[in-house]
Amino acid sequence: MKQFPVATINPAALRHNLSRVRQLAPDSRVMSVIKADAYGHGVLTVAESLRDSDAFAVARLNEGVFLREHGIEKPIVLLEGVNSEADFITAARYDLSPLIHLHTQIQLLQRIKLPKPLQFNWLMVDSGMHRLGISPEQATSALSLLQACQNIHGEIGLMSHFANSDLVGDPRNEAQLETMLALKQQTDVPLCMANSAAVLSYPQSHKDWVRPGLMLYGIAPFDDKSGGAFDLQPAMQLKTRLIAVYDIEAGGQVGYGGDWTADKPTRVGVASIGYGDGYSRHLSNKAEVLLRDQKVAVIGRVSMDTICLNLNDMEHAQVGDEVVLWGQPDLPVEQLATLAGTIPYELVTVICQRVARELSDG
Ligand SMILES: *Cc1c(COP(=O)(O)O)cnc(C)c1O
Repeated sequence: MKQFPVATINPAALRHNLSRVRQLAPDSRVMSVIKADAYGHGVLTVAESLRDSDAFAVARLNEGVFLREHGIEKPIVLLEGVNSEADFITAARYDLSPLIHLHTQIQLLQRIKLPKPLQFNWLMVDSGMHRLGISPEQATSALSLLQACQNIHGEIGLMSHFANSDLVGDPRNEAQLETMLALKQQTDVPLCMANSAAVLSYPQSHKDWVRPGLMLYGIAPFDDKSGGAFDLQPAMQLKTRLIAVYDIEAGGQVGYGGDWTADKPTRVGVASIGYGDGYSRHLSNKAEVLLRDQKVAVIGRVSMDTICLNLNDMEHAQVGDEVVLWGQPDLPVEQLATLAGTIPYELVTVICQRVARELSDG
């Protein structure tokens, strides 16, 4: 039996999107960000499809260990770094590269003895986001300490992260870049700054390495454009099936709380997906879905396992029909995120294990 709901992942789209990164940043190497199960797309499928990346990045130690245990051999950066001797030892054993973003991490590295030195190292500098990183004033001395450390092998790069790169032309982006360019000039080490928004809109920031996540999945990080506007292809299509069709009378209410009332006799369809699958409850009474290539409205609240659809313009809809939730050019996840009052990152990342995964052959 074919399972539904299902997230269909398209390896060709992933490869196409990586080639778009290369076109946009031809002089940079690419560190593909595949944290959080590759933004909900399935990390092994994505790592395999994007094996032409120069490196990968995940957030945490366990994500890196998982990739190594499944045969992924490219350099892997841990964007959150690690904070204990035991975790540094594990990172070294698995050839993982924990980002250095705290003075205490440097002190620890000066004190402990790792089974082998860490490779492919990066120092995170806080150029303005005030999330993770060493202050720019202390970056050169931190770099010197690391360069002298026995547990660190090879070149150490400088990394920083934009807080506002989705706001094209925002002067804060330029300020962050200026800070990092000044440090690069002093130290002459590789620089890695650009996330997807900066890859797409801020070529001056590309430098030695770019570090995109979202755009690899075919999704644009701006609130007024979808991936298609940048020739990106959605890598996930989320689908389910109609499990019931019935008619209600005018005045009938649909779903918990009776949030939607029929103003005329109405045909209602029930599709098998809900917030228990990761389909956001904030899409209640707002989203549209595709049924037989036609858009129909979600009516009433999203339940744990089901959504209700207005089928008044879809007389022929039948139990068993396929329902597309997102991932078609005319139903981009970016638009649904706007309707839900969130960002597309969240919609794709929270898709649950209960949702089946399959690879598209197209
Ligand atoms: C998640 C993340 C990225 C990728 O950002 P996108 O907006 O998905 O391209 C890059 N760098 C860091 C430090 C991150 O945490």
